[in-house]
Amino acid sequence: MSQTPIIRVRNLRKLFPIRGGGLSSFLTKEELFVHAVDDVSFDINTDEVLGLVGESGCGKTTLGRLLIRLLEPTSGEVYYRDTNILSLSQSEMRELRPKMQIIFQDPYESLNPRMTVLDLVAEPLEVNDLIENDAEKEEKVAEILEQMRLTPPEEFMFRYPHELSGGQRQRIAVARALIIHPDFVVADEPVSMLDTSTRGEILNLMIELKALTRSYLFITHELAVARHFCDRIAIMYLGRIMEMGTSDEIVKNPSHPYTRALLEATPVPNPKSRKEKVNIKGEVISPINPPRRCRFYTRCLMAEEICSRLEPELVDIGGGHMVACHLNQG
Ligand code: SF4
Repeated sequence: MSQTPIIRVRNLRKLFPIRGGGLSSFLTKEELFVHAVDDVSFDINTDEVLGLVGESGCGKTTLGRLLIRLLEPTSGEVYYRDTNILSLSQSEMRELRPKMQIIFQDPYESLNPRMTVLDLVAEPLEVNDLIENDAEKEEKVAEILEQMRLTPPEEFMFRYPHELSGGQRQRIAVARALIIHPDFVVADEPVSMLDTSTRGEILNLMIELKALTRSYLFITHELAVARHFCDRIAIMYLGRIMEMGTSDEIVKNPSHPYTRALLEATPVPNPKSRKEKVNIKGEVISPINPPRRCRFYTRCLMAEEICSRLEPELVDIGGGHMVACHLNQG
């Protein structure tokens, strides 16, 4: 794996305004925003899989979409190699699109039910003018269907999504993202809607097919799945990165109380073991105009006085292991 970043994110923020805002905002005239992504900075290296882990509603999906500009941020910068993608015009962004793809969570919603597998998988090739004729289209689609173990490909090419199982549909979604060999893929909970036997198969296929892309942001709410698939892991909580490091370091030497709580919720490092709910006691603070203190304060068993009045910065505690907790800041 190269240490050259393919994606660089600097001070990225995405605030969603709240319409109305209720009586208290009317009285104070304070504008209210959901802080979905709040001052986040990190790199994804070439040939790296970075896992983004956190409970639902923590801002993972919003962050993934910001990285490929499916959403516009409130402020901050996103670089693909040396290009600040937020400075690109729409037509420049269209040229960059084939380099950046996304696999959506829901294989039932992400595929157009009126298109055949052949047309669905070939769509990125056609949109980006990467094929000359129908023969080449069928050849390229057949090749990736074989790689996705949808064989013989002729048996699948002319089927519609409703004629496929959930696992087969997600293989089609993965094939669509990878057929143009993008540099960077956002995989947004790609196995969370699948049954346990299919999840492991799809993950193993994605590992085998890693050569078809350079780097992934792999979004999941399950640490065990991230450990299985990712080189490094970033732990996200209420719009902020709480801890980031190599997968081994995060699992064997977790330094943030939230990471430890997540690990206790998923004790078995096996992607087939599924724990849906993280059972951490305490009230989750609202993501609407959150106070400038540690966001995990209300649930943290280690909290001290300083945690209630100062938001900890994400700092390197050694070897690139980053932690945002006052207990780790000397
Ligand atoms: Fe807990 Fe304080 Fe660390 Fe936040 S900063 S995780 S409240 S110890």
